[in-house]
Amino acid sequence: MGVEGRTEQKKPGEMDGDKQVVFCADCGTENKIKAKRCKKCSYDLSLPPLWIPTWKWHLKVLAVIYVILTAAYFAIDVAFKQLAPPLNIRQLPPEVTPWLKK
Ligand SMILES: [Zn+2]
Repeated sequence: MGVEGRTEQKKPGEMDGDKQVVFCADCGTENKIKAKRCKKCSYDLSLPPLWIPTWKWHLKVLAVIYVILTAAYFAIDVAFKQLAPPLNIRQLPPEVTPWLKK
């Protein structure tokens, strides 16, 4: 899926210790797994990202977040209204905020 054998990972049996290596798809030289280019022929070893988010994906994720926040707002609003007084008060009484008096 999108990798197309540009680099070949060593089979588990061939691993020397836990050192991970990749083989250059061009010349077959062993390279460190984090190497960006082959040390012998400087062939590009970096893989293209398997998936890049599209604007549709962003739109979908933002819509889901918006729906969840809206649902949470109404759920919390309903939950607070069911509390016993004075906890169900949705607006602060003026004596609680004397500094706001005009
Ligand atoms: Zn190479």
